[in-house]
Amino acid sequence: EQDVNEHRKSLAIRVSGFDVPKSVKTFEDCGFSTEIMSAIKKQGYEKPTSIQCQALPVVLSGRDIIGIAKTGSGKTAAFVLPMIVHIMDQPELQKEEGPIGVICAPTRELAHQIYLEAKKFAKSYGIRVSAVYGGMSKLEQYRELKVGCEVVVATPGRLIDMLKMKALTMTRATYLVLDEADRMFDLGFEPQVRSIVGQIRPDRQTLLFSATMPRKIEKLAREILTDPIRVTVGEVG
Ligand code: ADP
Ligand code: MG
Repeated sequence: EQDVNEHRKSLAIRVSGFDVPKSVKTFEDCGFSTEIMSAIKKQGYEKPTSIQCQALPVVLSGRDIIGIAKTGSGKTAAFVLPMIVHIMDQPELQKEEGPIGVICAPTRELAHQIYLEAKKFAKSYGIRVSAVYGGMSKLEQYRELKVGCEVVVATPGRLIDMLKMKALTMTRATYLVLDEADRMFDLGFEPQVRSIVGQIRPDRQTLLFSATMPRKIEKLAREILTDPIRVTVGEVG
């Protein structure tokens, strides 16, 4: 019985905000294209995880979100899948340069995982994904970014380096994800995160994910999100 209660607690979902879109029960409910549906099936994802059930319709509706959930809850797909839809909805994709989707993560390992997940879904649309993090040649990254991409997955420090080198501009970025925001702050990336956010147009869609919500992250969220919906999974935050 203890176990059952623990399990229930870990799945409990709390949602706050106004005009919250109805949660989904299946990926079909999200209205994804056949390409995305087949990529989802190929991953072996049968149904959305708890956070995905609530976050997917929120993000697909264009709203800002604060997602609070611990590791392993399936947050990556919750922001990658709507990002593909967001990019495909852009008229005249080729006209401007620079990424439409900008994803920041605390470490190169995390950035790389997100990069791989994004590539799986981006591939069939010809959406180009670039990874930008330390440990790789800056010159090579500079060259890759110069060719152009629709999505950049980055650690904050290296993205700042690339912006300083003018490897990319963020003038067409309209979809910003801050993944594991608490860890980015723990690692001292607050100034870099703030600088990146400051370089992206204010009418963007912003998604902030964090395992915990310390005061500093609450403050950031208040400053950079617009009428966010908060989705909390389990006994966290
Ligand atoms: P988080 O970012 O919350 O830590 P991830 O996005 O890394 O979680 O997902 C954790 C694991 O769950 C990954 O191996 C991922 O492939 C898998 N996963 C994500 N969504 C689903 C789903 N709907 N069904 C089954 N597995 C999933
Ligand atoms: Mg994650």
